[in-house]
Amino acid sequence: MNTTQQEGNSLLKDLERIRKKTKISNKVINGQLEQIITEIEEAKSINDYSQLKDKLQNQKPLTKIKQTNNECYAYISKLGKNMDKLYKKNLQYGQEHVELDKNVLTELIKTHLLRDGEFEAYETLLKESGSAESSFHQFFTEAQSIVKDLKERKLDSAIQWAETREKKIMNCLLFELLKQKVIQLVQTEGISAAIYFMRDNSSFQEQGQAHLYEIRLMTCSIFLWPNVENTKYHYLYDDEKNWPRILNLFLEVAAKSQNILTKSEIRTVFSAGCLTMPKLIKYNQITRNRSSEVLTNDIPIDIEIGKEFKYHSFFVCPVSREVTNSDNPPVLLKCGHVISKLSAHKMIANKSKFKCPTCPVETKGVDLPELIFI
Ligand SMILES: [Zn+2]
Repeated sequence: MNTTQQEGNSLLKDLERIRKKTKISNKVINGQLEQIITEIEEAKSINDYSQLKDKLQNQKPLTKIKQTNNECYAYISKLGKNMDKLYKKNLQYGQEHVELDKNVLTELIKTHLLRDGEFEAYETLLKESGSAESSFHQFFTEAQSIVKDLKERKLDSAIQWAETREKKIMNCLLFELLKQKVIQLVQTEGISAAIYFMRDNSSFQEQGQAHLYEIRLMTCSIFLWPNVENTKYHYLYDDEKNWPRILNLFLEVAAKSQNILTKSEIRTVFSAGCLTMPKLIKYNQITRNRSSEVLTNDIPIDIEIGKEFKYHSFFVCPVSREVTNSDNPPVLLKCGHVISKLSAHKMIANKSKFKCPTCPVETKGVDLPELIFI
């Protein structure tokens, strides 16, 4: 028998006791009431209330009723306490207990080390755990070398990397890299070098149509160089902001290209632990002396630690109310809302576009980006 069944049975026993006690109590109370009624009626029939006055004055029957009621309430109160105890414990059952999978943990640590460029520690972990090479090894080796270059304000390796990857994911990054390249050329080699690059670079030419407006602005700014400080183009030359932004964009796009999170899972869990621990310790201190029954290692309280720590391991389609899976994955609509792929197919039917179920924005076609929940 498991704990829940035992606790359920204990409650049923309490209820049975209350039922029996109530039955006896009712009998006793009814008997006392009957006695009072009989005595009043007797007094009434002989029209002599002198003895009745004595009997009611010392209130023996009423004291008996009160006492019987109190006994009954004691049983009900005990049931209430047991239910409180069970209810509080049940909060823990609401928390899903996840067994720690050592293989998953090793993979996460391997990815974490590679992501941080800790290649030596990664190799040691492989040897000591007997684990296989991570499928991300090559990717992170390349990515780390590009990150190093970007930190030294060298763009060529990143541009080359983005040029050889899937255009759909890379377009935005590639344009930002090329834009920065033009700005850098203006700053280091002069206006002519920048103009030649814009004219001769085939990747830059390809970006022409999609980013025409930005390219025009950039070209205008080039001819103002170096007097851009007080113009509306000054942000293009703000190296302190632009380089970190490009580095972050690269990390984001690179992670996206591998269907992995931008931030390390290990670091996220560690940060969440650091943020929640002080509050948990405080909660533990407050509740320590209250009830030893309720306190366990799993404290069922919700602690708000910010949006960046909100993760969802599954997604329920707002249209079909079904949990999505690999056969029917969640897809991103143009407006940023998400529904399941099957729902998107049903909604578009034979039309060329359909309206988002949440907002008025229309999405064209059914070839929508799939979201992957990790
Ligand atoms: Zn929408």
